[in-house]
Amino acid sequence: MPEAVKRTCGSCTACCKSLAVMELKKPPKKWCPHCDIGKGCKIYAERPISCREYRCEWLKGFGDETARPDHTKVILDYFILPNGLTGGTFQMWEVSEGALGRPFVKQLTRYTVKAGIWVSHIPLRGRKKMFVPRGRSPTEDESSSMEEEDFEVIAFQP
Ligand code: SF4
Ligand code: SF4
Repeated sequence: MPEAVKRTCGSCTACCKSLAVMELKKPPKKWCPHCDIGKGCKIYAERPISCREYRCEWLKGFGDETARPDHTKVILDYFILPNGLTGGTFQMWEVSEGALGRPFVKQLTRYTVKAGIWVSHIPLRGRKKMFVPRGRSPTEDESSSMEEEDFEVIAFQP
């Protein structure tokens, strides 16, 4: 499906910190050594395939210009687990400590879970949280998958 808005990352380098890059053995939550922070990738022409392919929701057209992850300090990411667990999950990766506590994150989390979509918060420090829509109990498989990933499971309260 064509993306609604054509965007480029510009000077945003937020995912070069928050996300893991398998090819480089770069762990999540640490700056990539090839990142010129707030400018771009120093090995742009040779960057790994996972960097080339990654597109956060802002890049795909979510929100306005002010919602770029280097401004909000939160990367939004919608994905479907390959094993089909939970259907789709809206992930929110923290780029700067405390960003997941901001009002827009709380509002967006509430709105999304109310719409029946699971939401995960991945903070720079501390335990990951999974917000589960009300009335939707995780199956056994889903529970063990979240246990493996060490998620704190939070049943949504409107
Ligand atoms: S977080 Fe999104 S906009 Fe920022 S560099 Fe990564 S893909 Fe581009
Ligand atoms: S290789 Fe480049 S694009 Fe990939 S994480 Fe590092 S700085 Fe970012």
